[in-house]
Amino acid sequence: MATSRRSIIGLGAAAALSAPALLLSRNVHADTHASVDAAKAPVNGDVAMASGGDGGEFRRFSMGGSDIIIINDGGRNVPGPGSIFGTDLKEATVSALLDENLLPTDQMRISFHPVVIRKGADIILFDTGNAGGPDAPVGNTVENLKRAGIAPDDITKVVLTHFHPDHIGGMTAEDGTPNFPNASYYAGEEEYAFWTSDAAMAGPGQGVAQLTQQKVVPFKEKMTMLKDGDEVVSGVSAKGAFGHTPGHLIFMVEDGGRMLALTADTANHFVLSLQRPEWEVKFDMDKEKAAQTRKDVFGMLAADRIPFIGYHMPFPSLGYVKTEGEGFRFIAESYQFAMEG
Ligand SMILES: [Zn+2]
Repeated sequence: MATSRRSIIGLGAAAALSAPALLLSRNVHADTHASVDAAKAPVNGDVAMASGGDGGEFRRFSMGGSDIIIINDGGRNVPGPGSIFGTDLKEATVSALLDENLLPTDQMRISFHPVVIRKGADIILFDTGNAGGPDAPVGNTVENLKRAGIAPDDITKVVLTHFHPDHIGGMTAEDGTPNFPNASYYAGEEEYAFWTSDAAMAGPGQGVAQLTQQKVVPFKEKMTMLKDGDEVVSGVSAKGAFGHTPGHLIFMVEDGGRMLALTADTANHFVLSLQRPEWEVKFDMDKEKAAQTRKDVFGMLAADRIPFIGYHMPFPSLGYVKTEGEGFRFIAESYQFAMEG
């Protein structure tokens, strides 16, 4: 986007097309909202401009009677993809795959995308984003919910796919007050049991266990524990997708004869995790199980041509997978949801 904007302006063909105007026109055509105000605001401006790849505050579409809104919590550029993905391989192997896909080899973008499903009287938020902070380029979930026309008080249910900090950080504000005061809460039974165990508190993930005490445990009285196959509401069911964490859940959403999967952190990079699902990933707690889960989940989505929202896929993180070679190719959604049925 940065490149194309530069080249358009460089050509002098569209002197009237200021950056906000371009954002606005994209807004209208793609329903990917990046308002003029937001482009001026430092935090969201950061998000919109930093990589040129994930601008926009939210993306809305409908499926049957459900209104689905993908929220942009923000993103970060991080160095060394090879130190996170393919940790069982030579870094040159990871770099070669990135290069083959026209991606930089020395750094990558990680972005964070909670999802809202509005169905009947329920407004359900899946994951809450990062904790953020005044200068952080992440933690924009509450602000971007508001921009999408949803007040935090309107959220009726908050569902946690797992307890990593980028998913539970937005449960409360910095002073500890609940961000979604009228919600009831849902989380995986195994996930809750693990992160509140003595073993987790004493193990390598003790930082996450401590954050769980701060961000999740205070909501226990209002929390329903989910097992594989349990429904949050009719047509939205949990599915165990263990490995990334011990109780990691994904969700299958069905409405109007269409299906959509929320795959959370089953795959964390649209090229590295999908094209090479077997590669070890630093953040997967049980690496073998996570790899098997990746192959099973995306194998099923590819076979049935089911679209999915991946929490860390590039914004708006909605797409399809196609079986290819050793893994899958990510195909971003274009206009499939603009079509009936
Ligand atoms: Zn994550």
